Amino acid sequence: MNAIEVRDLVKTYGSGETAVHALKHIDMDVAEGELLMLMGASGSGKTTLVSIIGCILSATSGSCKIHGVETVGLAQSRLPKIRLDNIGFIFQAFNLFPALTAQENVEIALDLKGVRGSSAKARAAELLERVGLGEKLRTYPADLSGGQKQRVAIARSLAGEPRIILADEPTAALDSVSGRVVMDLLQELAREQGRAIVVVTHDNRIFDYADRIVHIEDGRITNSVAGNMPMENPRAMQASTRIKRES
Ligand code: ADP
Ligand code: MG
Repeated sequence: MNAIEVRDLVKTYGSGETAVHALKHIDMDVAEGELLMLMGASGSGKTTLVSIIGCILSATSGSCKIHGVETVGLAQSRLPKIRLDNIGFIFQAFNLFPALTAQENVEIALDLKGVRGSSAKARAAELLERVGLGEKLRTYPADLSGGQKQRVAIARSLAGEPRIILADEPTAALDSVSGRVVMDLLQELAREQGRAIVVVTHDNRIFDYADRIVHIEDGRITNSVAGNMPMENPRAMQASTRIKRES
């Protein structure tokens, strides 16, 4: 089963003369373990598409299945549960709480999953160790580099052990070394843990991480090409060592 199956998906914002046709009959599958990059100019519909896949925006028509479960047409009230159970989000701007330590930023996400108190503390520490930030538990975002902040955001997105991770321009605010550390980590999450990962990007420094690159133009998919295969990509195997070294 595909992790994500999108069929004939349409999203129109507004109506009548001011309607914006943001997605025009999109078809797209993402397999488990696949890292798919979604590319396209500003305004082409990338954020709209990942927002619908991530159950934070309703589609106008069509189908979007998350591990076989149809989400289009579901009552708005049912979407948060599907999102919490399946989806992790990562954003360009990190979206960390500045007044909370790295560990507390992750604990907040665990709280949403009903994990609190000392078990949340232990679990948050474990997730931060997984992204190579075991030494930064009590550090505030202001004292972390951009790449480290994004790794806190990745740890936070893993709070619910989501099988799908959606990352909207995750490296846009990072220098190329930090960007590659973040991509190493996302690739490892796809390869070793079978998660489906969608990375929205303009960043031509990271295209080599893609298993597949899908181009979107004015609300339509215009091209879908295979990228790197695991065998041709030794970085996948070195990823965990590299992350430890950088931190
Ligand atoms: P991208 O992420 O590729 O830049 P978006 O999905 O944000 O593209 O936007 C696609 C189109 O939909 C654009 O024309 C944008 O102006 C429009 N759009 C996005 N969000 C809204 C909204 N909430 N209301 C109206 N139009 C929107
Ligand atoms: Mg966008």
